Amino acid sequence: MFEQLNLFGSSDETTKPKNHADKFRSGDVEPIQKKSGAIYFLGEPIEIVRRPYQRSLNILVRPSGRIRITCARLTSKRAIYNFLSENHAWLRKAIDEQRALRNAHPPKQYTQGEEFLYLGAQVYLNFSPSTQKKVSFSIIGDQLVAFIPKAEWSADYTSIPHPELKKPMIQFYKNSGCKTLQLKVDQMSKKMNLFPAKVSYRSQKTRWGSCSSRGNISLNWRLIAAPMGTLEYVVIHELAHLEYQDHSKCFWGLVKRFCSNHEEHSKWLRDHQFEFDFLATSSELHV
Ligand SMILES: [Zn+2]
Repeated sequence: MFEQLNLFGSSDETTKPKNHADKFRSGDVEPIQKKSGAIYFLGEPIEIVRRPYQRSLNILVRPSGRIRITCARLTSKRAIYNFLSENHAWLRKAIDEQRALRNAHPPKQYTQGEEFLYLGAQVYLNFSPSTQKKVSFSIIGDQLVAFIPKAEWSADYTSIPHPELKKPMIQFYKNSGCKTLQLKVDQMSKKMNLFPAKVSYRSQKTRWGSCSSRGNISLNWRLIAAPMGTLEYVVIHELAHLEYQDHSKCFWGLVKRFCSNHEEHSKWLRDHQFEFDFLATSSELHV
């Protein structure tokens, strides 16, 4: 049994017409059946996915702006258009909301002075030539300094974007995240007297952490962008699952003993979930 702490909280669900639209996090695992295609509505392309055992019509608007309808194999185009017409006000609103979300989180340019989130604070990207052979990063004060090998350095280096830094920057965050979480797990394990059998670090899109019935804990290294207290809360949450495998009163009582303001941290994670998008290999917002 896996427990999961969802990255996508309820506050981010797009309001939907009853029994119709699905929230944008729905799974992608079912096989796509024949005669899938696309239509246009409100000037937007809408993907149609037909599934053998599905009866209802569902519509999904992703943060990236992609819109998908899933329906039965034999649902007619007319039925789909009728459904879209009936729900056009909802659809318009959902499209606008997701567009606003993308505009609020534009893709990173990797330019001098650009803001990045690290341990809950804004740090500013800065470039510095270096004698090292590979690009490396370091947090110095409120700066995220990229040390650039001299061979890659140029006179105009600081005035142009450097998308090639995305990969090494993600690696820096990953290393830093794993190290910080490891220290936190060690520290909180001793305090709570709860010790995981194994700890692994991942970067799931939909989970901050999980705990298996075998006592294995998995933590999302992208938490390094969250404030230390919030990162600590996720560690406490997963360690508490070693004692209680549910979200019962006892479980929350244990969490509260070590993290009195856990609701605030959950809220922070929900409110800021898209600020972690720059650490994703494939962006949820910009495809
Ligand atoms: Zn949990």
